[in-house]
Amino acid sequence: MARDVHVIDHPLIQHKLTLMRKKSTSTGSFRRLLHEISMLLAYEVTRDMAVTMETIETPLAQMSAPVLEGKKIVIVSVLRAGDGIREGMMQILPSARVGHIGLYRDPKTLIAVEYYFRVPNEMHDRDVIVVDPMLATGNSAVAAVERIKETRPKSIKFVCLLAANPGIEAFHAQHPDVPIYTPAVDPELNDHGYIVPGLGDAGDRMFGTK
Ligand code: URA
Repeated sequence: MARDVHVIDHPLIQHKLTLMRKKSTSTGSFRRLLHEISMLLAYEVTRDMAVTMETIETPLAQMSAPVLEGKKIVIVSVLRAGDGIREGMMQILPSARVGHIGLYRDPKTLIAVEYYFRVPNEMHDRDVIVVDPMLATGNSAVAAVERIKETRPKSIKFVCLLAANPGIEAFHAQHPDVPIYTPAVDPELNDHGYIVPGLGDAGDRMFGTK
């Protein structure tokens, strides 16, 4: 099976990610940069969306022009940090439907525990983008995608801000059919499951909770 990892190495995204990694970057800047990167990631991840031709009237003539096909895409945010990416993506996908999955990492086992789940109806006709900034151990991403698969959507993609090699391996061991989109892949995790060199705790840096 595919096991796709798309590393989005656009210079604008790379530059902004470097700024986000710096420990001196403020909460406000971190949030703004995540918003900007997420808009650019949305552009990349929707590159293969299907279009159909529609007959329209311009002020001068009738023409056949492309429009997006099918039901609205669904962005599923893994709470709480996923909401940063979700918000940025919605800037260029304003009609996207939104789902939320609440998962917390048990600090001892690092296992993902679900506390909230809400997605739009008619999932079987929709393409889904699951968003979570840090693909570290892969536990939350694996659990989130497992839950989304239960709703039988047309397709699933996973988008993060930063992935670690162990997380990619763990994720694709369970979900080889789900492509990963990430601006960068870091080599390792520390004993607490944080990505190294990484950028720290994405949720804390985004919300100023530490
Ligand atoms: N979650 C984070 O916010 N940062 C990491 O490095 C790993 C998981």
